[in-house]
Amino acid sequence: MTDCIFCKLVAGQIPSTRVYEDEHTLAFMDIGHVNPGHTLVALKKHAASLLELQEEQAAAVARTCSRVSKAIQAAFKPEGLSVYQANGKAAGQTVFHYHVHLLPRHAGDGMDLVWPVKNPPREQLEATAARIREKL
Ligand code: AMP
Ligand code: ZN
Repeated sequence: MTDCIFCKLVAGQIPSTRVYEDEHTLAFMDIGHVNPGHTLVALKKHAASLLELQEEQAAAVARTCSRVSKAIQAAFKPEGLSVYQANGKAAGQTVFHYHVHLLPRHAGDGMDLVWPVKNPPREQLEATAARIREKL
């Protein structure tokens, strides 16, 4: 896609700091860099979000995330590692080319994700699960 910043990055038309690539994926430094080692893993082929991926493409990204996560852990020894992936503006996505954040974490690093639990009754969970199952 010609006006997509990550397509340009994959094609080498804009600068990037790369850590790993294979046939289907590219891992590179997130320019915003929340913590040292903050890496993005993107599919090379343009897809706006997870919802546009073939299962094989999702598997390729997952493999690269697994591999690069271990390298980040070995290099920086963070106390934790968050894997973050946003789909759609309402979910916080700002670059609409599928990518996963691998984010080394430390206590008190300022990252904040509010998680407003609802703890619904089991019957409600069953009804919700049934709606998803029927679409699989
Ligand atoms: P998201 O909000 O999940 O869509 O994340 C987009 C991420 O892309 C942000 O964390 C940005 O810092 C990062 N980003 C945007 N432009 C570039 C770029 N040219 N090179 C590396 N990272 C970028
Ligand atoms: Zn793209």
